Amino acid sequence: MIQRGKLTLPRSFHRLGLGLAAVTALLAVFAVAVSLLAAAYQQRIDEASRYNRTFDATQTLAELLRLQLAFAGAREPGDLDEIRMRTAILENRASILANAVWPIPEMRADFLPSLFDALQRITPLIDRMPEAGVGMDAVTILKPLVQPLARMTSRSHAIANDEIGRTQAQLRLMFAVLCGLTVFLVLFGAALVTFVLWQNRRLDRTARSDALTGLANRLQFGLCLDRLASANGCAVMLIDVDHFKTLNDTNGHDIGDVVLTRVGQRLEEAAPDARLVARVGGDEFAILYEGPEAAARSRAAATRILEMMRQPILANGRCVKVSVTLGLRTVEGAADTPSSYTLLKDADLALYEAKAAGRRCATEFQPAMKKSFLERHRLEADLHGAIDRGEHHLQFQPVVDLRANTTLGFEALLRWNHPEFGFVPPSQFVPLAEESDLILDLGRWVLTEAIATARHWPGDVFVAVNISARQLNDAGLAAFVAQTLAEAGLPAQRLEIEVTETALIQNEALATQTLQALRALGCRIALDDFGTGYASLSYLQRFVFDKLKIDRSFVESCREDKNSSAIVAAVCALAHRLQLGVVAEGIETREHCAFVAEAGCGAGQGYLFDRPLSKDKALERLQRETEDARWPVQADRAPRHLALAL
Ligand code: C2E
Ligand code: MG
Ligand code: MG
Repeated sequence: MIQRGKLTLPRSFHRLGLGLAAVTALLAVFAVAVSLLAAAYQQRIDEASRYNRTFDATQTLAELLRLQLAFAGAREPGDLDEIRMRTAILENRASILANAVWPIPEMRADFLPSLFDALQRITPLIDRMPEAGVGMDAVTILKPLVQPLARMTSRSHAIANDEIGRTQAQLRLMFAVLCGLTVFLVLFGAALVTFVLWQNRRLDRTARSDALTGLANRLQFGLCLDRLASANGCAVMLIDVDHFKTLNDTNGHDIGDVVLTRVGQRLEEAAPDARLVARVGGDEFAILYEGPEAAARSRAAATRILEMMRQPILANGRCVKVSVTLGLRTVEGAADTPSSYTLLKDADLALYEAKAAGRRCATEFQPAMKKSFLERHRLEADLHGAIDRGEHHLQFQPVVDLRANTTLGFEALLRWNHPEFGFVPPSQFVPLAEESDLILDLGRWVLTEAIATARHWPGDVFVAVNISARQLNDAGLAAFVAQTLAEAGLPAQRLEIEVTETALIQNEALATQTLQALRALGCRIALDDFGTGYASLSYLQRFVFDKLKIDRSFVESCREDKNSSAIVAAVCALAHRLQLGVVAEGIETREHCAFVAEAGCGAGQGYLFDRPLSKDKALERLQRETEDARWPVQADRAPRHLALAL
């Protein structure tokens, strides 16, 4: 299978992206957790240094000493207030110590009972103050408390310091971990961002490229075209693969894919100096030329492309003949560069013209194309309903036996009388009808009309009906023909089906089936415009025909072109060898007639004998011809066109 321009990312890339995102998220969670832990430790240190038991013990010690001093220094009744206040503060301190959680519980158990006991014992002494010796008694009661309280203070101080030290060590560890996490977080975050940016670029590239061919796609082509404003000269070329749908349907999508890829490669090879080669639709490619000589370079590329496409494409071991049609819009200078929209539209118009001109060619945009395009659109719109409005009719051009100068049959030719434009030639409206399914209805109408007309002709005069490509792909055509013939009571042998190579090329498999079914009914099959295609002979091998119609271009140029006369002679010889009838088209002069007769052609058609006639005139012509040879109808006579298979 084709690997070029593969869209999907390898699985490992998805895993890498997911891994990076997961690790980054995990690191972020860790970092948050460690930060919270560090904050908690910090708070513990804060609390340890601000509200530790050392402070309470130190304050209690200071108050104990102050109370001792108050007792020792009391001389007058007024000092009693100071003593009472100090005693109250000490009692308050004692109750704080009693309620506090102590790092050294046994110390509280030893010291606090002594403190409360001493406070109880000094209370009666306060009332006796400033009696001599009472103050010293109180000092004596309080004195034994000083040493244990001082010891407790220093122990608790040491314990608090140890705790702060330990917490600080843990905090340092936390910060180290946090630093490490931050570094990893930054690294993984950067990797993740790089990955996302890279993937974005890749997706962007993918969005602008065609998955099958690896070329730029319509989006990229449009962007490039929009940036053309400053270019000094440019050219837009649209390339359409002819009948790609049929190719896809008959050969399969795998082969269709390979064909598109190879066409893309050939375009790149043929236009190495192009600014961009893109695939802008299913079977449509576009090339953009920019800068000096863009117009000339694009024309040269168009010629190279057509030349390169002559070579068949080898797809999955099968040789596939592919042709392309090109539409070109060139701008010589920067002066009035049209908008990108106009450039594309003009190139599209040129492409449309190229298709109308028979495909396999390049057409450059001309301003007049706009008018004809509008007209064509008008015609296309008006074609719908033209049958119901009775705007179509058939004309019948005789096919003449060159030796007996009698009418062998008539070719039914479709006409359209447009209410505004007047006569519209089939070369203009048949391709329009073929583009839509309208040709199916139109084709069936022609068959019905032609058969209905032919039933009034003598028993051996045939009617030839042109069948287009779309009709050959209509699986119900043979059944329709059988039913119409039956309804009209016309023998199938008197109906001739004319097909062109172009019609056959579009869907060989289906076309073969339809032709075989028609032939099985008894209809004759003629290969029209023989010699104009590039593989006429190969069709003789693949299909069973009853007749060849030599294209009028060979007859027209027989006088001045020795090759044409040689070709006509060779085709006649070939037809005889293959036991096929042969008719020369476009006999306008006696000279043409003599030439084709000499070349071995038994039948002819052309203005020399008659222009296409109305059905009444066709009947008159038959009646004019030798009455006894035609009337009454001789049922046992073979149809006249069989007589041509000499
Ligand atoms: P064709 O089948 O090759 O028809 C012959 C064309 O050559 C006719 O043109 C006819 O008028 C013209 N012609 C005949 N004798 C001469 C002559 O001596 N000199 C010149 N210069 N031309 C001559 P017409 O009627 O314009 O038809 C053109 C083509 O349109 C036909 O070519 C056929 O391919 C297509 N066409 C006509 N009617 C139908 C139809 O009912 N269905 C389909 N699918 N195609 C049709
Ligand atoms: Mg024809
Ligand atoms: Mg023809």
